[in-house]
Amino acid sequence: MRIVIKVGTSTLAHGTGRLNIRRIDKLCKVMSDLKNSGHEIILVSSGAIAMGVGKLGLGIRPDDTASKQAAAAIGQCELMYTYDKLFAEYNHTVAQILITGLDIEAPERRRNFENTLFKLLEFGALPIINENDTVSTDEIEIGDNDTLSAIVASSVKADVLILLSDIDGLYDKNPRKYDDAKLITTVEKITPEIMALADGKGSNLGTGGMDTKLSAAQIATKAGMDMIIANGENPELLYDIAEGKQVGTRFLKEVEK
Ligand code: ADP
Repeated sequence: MRIVIKVGTSTLAHGTGRLNIRRIDKLCKVMSDLKNSGHEIILVSSGAIAMGVGKLGLGIRPDDTASKQAAAAIGQCELMYTYDKLFAEYNHTVAQILITGLDIEAPERRRNFENTLFKLLEFGALPIINENDTVSTDEIEIGDNDTLSAIVASSVKADVLILLSDIDGLYDKNPRKYDDAKLITTVEKITPEIMALADGKGSNLGTGGMDTKLSAAQIATKAGMDMIIANGENPELLYDIAEGKQVGTRFLKEVEK
């Protein structure tokens, strides 16, 4: 299977913004193993700004664009250094791709991006993609990595898109507010009622909340693949997903009539 996996900041970092070493270690181990068993993996990873904030010891995420972009420049290095080191332990080669909305909208740039991705997969490398936060502004940004990962998954015609989050999946109401919220295991069709279940973001580290995950599900299912939201706390769940077991919330692909 060709699998696109998106990990959010809340999965990669502690509340302090600094790297959750145990988590990322496990994540890279499981992804390496899945690659060894024959799956193709493409990773969409957030975390650059949080990592930069942690490394600079700023304490809180700055509000102004220049500081955020500077933090991203520092954090992206740290992030890739960590991925490179951990994947290298299992003999896998990583590649960094940073893009903005412009690269998706301009046909020639998008073609270049897609050609590079396909070539990297052919080489057996593991592409790691993030928004290019250092040059992104409101006008040109994709805005969140849930959407970015769905665009990437459509581009490479992935078999499945997996969003690893800080929650088990989509609930029938926000589980952070309601104790009796129930997990929805399968979504056959993304109706306005389903879209209305998104109720803001969960942590101060996360960016999109459920809203952007449901938009990503629309893009992915329309492009002909299932999308799964699962809890990033336990990266071993990726094995179950690869084996087709029920994990988290699965959005079923649209089938052409
Ligand atoms: P990530 O950093 O993984 O992208 P987010 O914090 O952005 O995670 O999004 C997940 C959060 O969305 C959950 O922690 C939860 O608080 C919130 N949320 C809002 N509505 C729902 C819902 N219906 N089901 C599950 N989570 C929801």
